[in-house]
Amino acid sequence: MIDLHTHSSASDGTDAPGRVVELAAEAGLRVVALTDHDTTAGWDEAAAAAVRSGISLVRGAEVSTRVAMPDGGISVHVLSYLHDPTHPALLEELERTRTSRLTRARRMTERLAEDFPITWADVVASTGDGATVGRPHLADALVALGVVASRDEAFAAMLHPGAPYYVPHYAPDAVTAIRAIRAAGGVPVMAHPGAGARGRVVTAETIEELAGAGLAGLEVDHRDHPPETRARLRDLAEALNLVATGSSDYHGTGKLNRLAENTTTPEALAAIEEQGLLDVVRP
Ligand code: AMP
Ligand code: ZN
Ligand code: FE
Ligand code: FE
Repeated sequence: MIDLHTHSSASDGTDAPGRVVELAAEAGLRVVALTDHDTTAGWDEAAAAAVRSGISLVRGAEVSTRVAMPDGGISVHVLSYLHDPTHPALLEELERTRTSRLTRARRMTERLAEDFPITWADVVASTGDGATVGRPHLADALVALGVVASRDEAFAAMLHPGAPYYVPHYAPDAVTAIRAIRAAGGVPVMAHPGAGARGRVVTAETIEELAGAGLAGLEVDHRDHPPETRARLRDLAEALNLVATGSSDYHGTGKLNRLAENTTTPEALAAIEEQGLLDVVRP
């Protein structure tokens, strides 16, 4: 079993990177990818844990990007696998996004503070040291303060893009990001392309354009995709000669997603490894 999308406390997951890998081994996975938002900070700890736990690790990241639209942009997450983490173009984009996420979290906290007893110190207390900050950390602070009962409730009530407290953050254009990932030797796979409940999703035409820019695959099997969406995306992947993957998007206790609930075939992983600069870490 192969699961190519998980988050640790290096971003907005609740388990340390090494713990994600241990839990992956316990869940019966043979291969797991660590794909924290806009960071590779968890790679070394995860690799050491993989060797200890006897499973393979795909080093990755989930890169925040945007597709411009006449009426605002669509947020698109692109998983990058097996890239050089020191490549300047990609590193600069990730750093710029993380910096903007920090400013954005402060501004959202200021807006929330007008209606709820939340301070920036509460958000800092909910965020791991050096972690990529996101709305889940604001949610955790609101839960700790007793304002809401869960991350889910926080998103539904005050953190969704239509809420008055919402502030967007910088993210590179999807074509720019895909080219930077390829330049860094990475393999770009679009995460949850059909997750309509999170907001607007891109069209098949946009996916075709991104494939022209170097996109390597589509995450077809994901919790947020109903069966019809999976069938449509599987057909699209085949038509565009893209690798089809499946994964859990595990975030620890912060979301319902369980490790190995969706998986990737060995053939798809082999196609990704063949295109990637780095090797899979094997025990
Ligand atoms: P951000 O990165 O700040 O835009 O926040 C997006 C993150 O929040 C994604 O990683 C999602 O997995 C997570 N997320 C979105 N909706 C929810 C929800 N209802 N409950 C828990 N986490 C969520
Ligand atoms: Zn997340
Ligand atoms: Fe995502
Ligand atoms: Fe994710």
